[in-house]
Amino acid sequence: MFKNKFWEKAVALIKLSIKKVLLLPSLLYFKIANSNVECNICKFKANRFRSNDWHSYIICPNCGSEVRHRLLWATFEHINDFSLTKLIKNKSVLHFAPEKIIRLLLKKFAKNYKTADYFSEGYTYDNIDYYIDISNMYDIKDEFFDCVIACDVLEHVEDDTKAIKEVYRILKNGGYSIFTVPQRDNLKITYEDPLITNPDEREKAYGQFDHLRIYGDDFISLLESYSFKVFEIDENCFTKQIAERNVLFPPIKSEIKNVTNYRKVFIGLK
Ligand SMILES: [Zn+2]
Repeated sequence: MFKNKFWEKAVALIKLSIKKVLLLPSLLYFKIANSNVECNICKFKANRFRSNDWHSYIICPNCGSEVRHRLLWATFEHINDFSLTKLIKNKSVLHFAPEKIIRLLLKKFAKNYKTADYFSEGYTYDNIDYYIDISNMYDIKDEFFDCVIACDVLEHVEDDTKAIKEVYRILKNGGYSIFTVPQRDNLKITYEDPLITNPDEREKAYGQFDHLRIYGDDFISLLESYSFKVFEIDENCFTKQIAERNVLFPPIKSEIKNVTNYRKVFIGLK
């Protein structure tokens, strides 16, 4: 028993050391490059950003923004078809699971800005307008909003297809949905197993204890199958200079299973 544990630990340590050696070139590159980065949301400038359990140097030390938030904001700032003026300014906007860092800005620009969430353990948000489940928004009339934003929400929702249908229903014609979801690198088809219900098993299977699936490349077709015309925004939609400066991708790719190294913002036109 003791021997087994010892060898388990030794093997884990060797594996970790090998991984670190393999990562060394990119780490060195990052240090030598001495890149100056800037959060496009709060404008904080840093030599480099903070790390989290998944990635090195991706969190703004000032406002806590992550790659997906800055990618969304870069979309508003630099892509004319999906600018702040076109999608948010003087529009009615519904923001699910509203991240503090962008809700203040959106509120400033939108004509009618509402927040929504369906409370679950471990999450707290202040001043929510609608306590609703995104897959059953009975309180909201058809074609009511110009824009619905739900970043990293659908992976928590039991019936995500119902949620997408509901978002479509409450959007006006010509309105936009904005989604982000965790997508495992190189996973073609979304992985979901209804038999996995235990939080530990969910963490192992999908990367987080309260996720119900891990999305694959087919997420875009899922949105399209519910009549959205979908535009996929990633780091390649911006100049190299902007993508690097605003850290619109992880400077060092993570090797962790279920990690999302290539973040995308999905904009769906109704
Ligand atoms: Zn920031």
